[in-house]
Amino acid sequence: MIVVMEESASEIQIDAVVHRLKKVGFDIHRSRGERLTILGAVGSHDMDPRDLELMEGVHEVVRISAPYKLASRAFKPEGTVIRIKDVTIGANEIVMMAGPCTIENQDQVEAVAEAVAAQGVQVMRGGAFKPRTSPYSFQGLGEQGLRFIRDAADRHGLLVVSEVMESSQIPMFLRYVDILQVGARNMQNFNLLRDLSRIDRPVLLKRGPAATIEETLLSAEYLLAGGNHQVIICERGIRTFETYTRNTLDISAIPVIKKLSHLPVVVDPSHGTGRRDKVPPMARAAVAAGADGLLIEVHNEPEKALCDGAQSLLPDQFARLMEQLGLIASAVDRRMAVRAPRA
Ligand code: PEP
Ligand code: MN
Repeated sequence: MIVVMEESASEIQIDAVVHRLKKVGFDIHRSRGERLTILGAVGSHDMDPRDLELMEGVHEVVRISAPYKLASRAFKPEGTVIRIKDVTIGANEIVMMAGPCTIENQDQVEAVAEAVAAQGVQVMRGGAFKPRTSPYSFQGLGEQGLRFIRDAADRHGLLVVSEVMESSQIPMFLRYVDILQVGARNMQNFNLLRDLSRIDRPVLLKRGPAATIEETLLSAEYLLAGGNHQVIICERGIRTFETYTRNTLDISAIPVIKKLSHLPVVVDPSHGTGRRDKVPPMARAAVAAGADGLLIEVHNEPEKALCDGAQSLLPDQFARLMEQLGLIASAVDRRMAVRAPRA
């Protein structure tokens, strides 16, 4: 942290700031220019810069290191690669996660599993516990839904990602899923994050609708600090003043997070736009911008979907997108991680 004192700051005021910083544990490097005194506070202590800014004689406080440590790129410059069975996330290959918004019944989940597996997808998505805005909307099939998606995924050699909404569900999720998803609304549910930090299973952490990148990385830090290093960040759109799309997909978050952090970044253009016709262009943009994977809603009969039909791709649209993504991936020196479909 750098503390720039006012030109008019007195020795007493400077000493008071030095004393305060030392009390927290910082080493102080003091430099006196012709007009200004600058204090360099070195150390990784937690201090609110505003507490210093409010002190007499202080002109400005500049934080120079990120408040997250384990999530920062400096902690692991080579980048994190997560391995789940034969799937790697965060390496050169771009991982596809696809499936319905919500698991509705056995036939639906089987039809979608077959369709996405035929395209070489590696991870099947599908919610069994749904965080719905309205309490009157379909809330998900619960454990039965997890059973359906696990069975369908196993038949087609797919991994499973599904959203866990509360800590008490974690043991159940460990029986059925390969990746536990933390939904956007739960990104700052710190108790849930703390409990997920103690498990040995990857977590896909969605950025909150109103969360800054720094807040998102601090939520990831909760998982890492508790011992779970298998964390994937998911950009899924943020709330802005724009109302045409459901959210504003922050494509720039991809290169920013890749620079600030070593964690893999996947992008969800389905919730990011809320409209089927806007999903392929944003998926293409995400791959071009450096995403390590995509999370996309696909439904065999979106007009009958119980949730998010309007943003779900039809299987043939998804197939066309997969072809395009292959071309874009090679243009940015990546490859689509296409898995051979099971006979
Ligand atoms: C989802 O992916 O099923 C979901 C509910 O997304 P989000 O948490 O991003 O709204
Ligand atoms: Mn959805």
